[in-house]
Amino acid sequence: MSDIYEILQQYYGYSSFRPGQEELVRSILSGRDALAVMPTGSGKSICYQVPAIAMQGITLVVSPLISLMKDQVGALNQAGVRAAYLNSSLTPRQHLLAMQNARAGMYKVIYVAPERLFMDVFQEFALQAEISMVAVDEAHCISQWGHDFRPSYTRVAEFIKQLPRRPVVAAFTATATKQVKEDILHELRLQDPYCITTGFDRKNLCFRVERPQDKSAYVVSYVKKHAGRSGIVYCMTRKGVDELCKELLENGVQAAPYHAGLPDGERQKNQDDFLYDRCRVMVATNAFGMGIDKSNVSFVIHYNMPMNLEQYYQEAGRAGRDGEQADCVLLYAPMDVRLCRFLIDKGLEDSPELSGEQRETLREREYEKLKQMTFYATLSTCFRRFLLRYFGEQAPFECGNCSNCLHIREEGRFPSAGFSPQSNRPAAKTMELPVDEGLLAALKQTRRELSATAKVPAYLIFSDATLRDMCRKRPRSLEEMKAVSGVGAYKLDRFGRKFLQTLQAYQDAENG
Ligand code: ADP
Ligand code: ZN
Repeated sequence: MSDIYEILQQYYGYSSFRPGQEELVRSILSGRDALAVMPTGSGKSICYQVPAIAMQGITLVVSPLISLMKDQVGALNQAGVRAAYLNSSLTPRQHLLAMQNARAGMYKVIYVAPERLFMDVFQEFALQAEISMVAVDEAHCISQWGHDFRPSYTRVAEFIKQLPRRPVVAAFTATATKQVKEDILHELRLQDPYCITTGFDRKNLCFRVERPQDKSAYVVSYVKKHAGRSGIVYCMTRKGVDELCKELLENGVQAAPYHAGLPDGERQKNQDDFLYDRCRVMVATNAFGMGIDKSNVSFVIHYNMPMNLEQYYQEAGRAGRDGEQADCVLLYAPMDVRLCRFLIDKGLEDSPELSGEQRETLREREYEKLKQMTFYATLSTCFRRFLLRYFGEQAPFECGNCSNCLHIREEGRFPSAGFSPQSNRPAAKTMELPVDEGLLAALKQTRRELSATAKVPAYLIFSDATLRDMCRKRPRSLEEMKAVSGVGAYKLDRFGRKFLQTLQAYQDAENG
């Protein structure tokens, strides 16, 4: 199969590419290296997976995140693509087995942790295999200027160099300043790469800042008002997590805590409950989320203000990855600023390897970032504009989808304060078409059942976006089901009938 649209439809059930995807896919297929800077949720994985499926040979994906690997491989397997991952979560036996399968040519895509590249068994395999592409995910980890430097990344180029044939190399990251970009280009020895930066803007996210008197009462009421929706509440401290979680449970909300103070088993279980839709609200410290790829998170609430906008945007960005409307709510209180200062100072004191001078430089930098974060929290103009400009992008004065813009419009403030003339105001908030909530609930129930039987997270069966589209289109046959966005051939075959039954049963009940 070589037509990329056919692959997109067959394996993913999508009929069109998102901005940037098609150019990247075509460029990679033409044999050219690539560097892509794309925000979380914009669909990076498709950019290397579609070429991987189209090409002869194997694609290696270098990734630092264990949970993300597992998730991606799960998603590929669900879509009918043979894939595996190699990282420290495997037992030696499992690792050996996966390597045997790999040698036997069983996989099209292999996710590998950078530390494994130079292990003997892996070397043996890699030097024999036909590796046609190396995709480097989270490529900013290669740069000391990035926020997440991983020394093992600096050997990726060396690994590629010793391969008998140089594969196409494609690097991906969600955050890269100019400096980090240059590091990636240089450290990976990219050759005449096709570079693309798609915007940071996530149009389906509604940015909001609230200053409630009673934060926990706000969260309880928000969560109750959004019944049937699932989300994450980030707290700064473990104690904060435990207390809020308790309060939610007392109010009848299915919530679970996640922080580094919990025993491994319990933390894992809570995470799974959230991923499998058995628990609706995850209350967590920032330990939760690296590599969490649950696509149907429809709100992220920050109970405390984070230390900087990089962290805020990354965490808030976990909402709405399926493209549905989602809320990012920051609950601000002046005390949060003091808490952040305290944590910055403490972090620096706990780093004995720093010289006094380095420490002061870092402190200054962190304080400056905190200042920007505080500006954001107390802003009276468009939140999205502030965020985008902070990350170096242009933006109109009003976005129409943040709490300030929505208030500005409602109250009709600033009619001629210099805003309107320049304001390049987009159309009003993009609204989801309403769907039959009863039917949606029934489809979610079917998904939950399938998730339990197939032992995969619910969102890997179908995303919320797909279920909503199903509500709108109400297919009556497998043929019609194909037209639903997100229903690929393999999933149609495995799950189609079950969902048709649910649709039919609902229809029958409606007709009395
Ligand atoms: P990223 O890695 O950039 O954070 P993902 O690759 O996880 O993002 O994609 C985010 C979501 O968008 C996934 O649910 C994915 O299936 C969906 N998606 C990606 N490309 C498309 C597309 N062309 N059409 C519809 N949905 C898409
Ligand atoms: Zn706005």
